[in-house]
Amino acid sequence: MEAKKKVLIVEDEKNIVDILRFNLQRTGYETVEAYDGEDGLAKAIGENPDLILLDVMLPKMLGFDVCKTLRSQGNNVPVIILTAREEESDKVLGLEIGADDYITKPFSMRELIARVGANIRRTAMAAPAAATAAASAMRVADDLSINTDSHQVFRAGKAIDLTQREYELLTFLASHPNKVYSRIDLMEQVWNYGYVGDDARAVDVTVRRLREKIEADPASPIYILTRRGAGYYFSVAQA
Ligand code: CA
Repeated sequence: MEAKKKVLIVEDEKNIVDILRFNLQRTGYETVEAYDGEDGLAKAIGENPDLILLDVMLPKMLGFDVCKTLRSQGNNVPVIILTAREEESDKVLGLEIGADDYITKPFSMRELIARVGANIRRTAMAAPAAATAAASAMRVADDLSINTDSHQVFRAGKAIDLTQREYELLTFLASHPNKVYSRIDLMEQVWNYGYVGDDARAVDVTVRRLREKIEADPASPIYILTRRGAGYYFSVAQA
């Protein structure tokens, strides 16, 4: 058996931590807990978790700042933000600052466990999936290249820091050049579970973040293009 995956729970409500810990451990995960943002950040760095469940409203340091700090340090551990119900702005902000996913409180435990599993699996399977999709380790489109062995993306020879989700979205689209995928398609293919309705905006946010990182002019993208009313596609310039 491979080692247990470790989930860091950063949440100040003890009863929520208790029920999360109980259910995660029962499912086969190891857990680490932090009850405020500062401790959460310290454990995110020191404990090297496979995934972080991150509450937003935390003592000492907000969940958003914990996530932002990790990303600024180049730490791409999957982060699922726990948001209070109806706080739509929290979801969008969470994705903006580099979270991979969010789940709304009160959540169903089954749904949460499924999301944890999907996000960890996605990370673990990224390498073989990407390797299969690519004919070679290095994919080049104009001045953009993806090394699917090292999971690095380069633009004009310079390494670009992407979150795991951004990397996977780019790799997926680039593996199917000029094919248009709807947001729902991408939710299923890249996010690994079916989303409905407004949640598909996560695709838009991720596309926008990706464009800001890989496009010379994000307002006039040349790689990831929008087919109005249909979806997104990776454009391959004609030789
Ligand atoms: Ca809280």
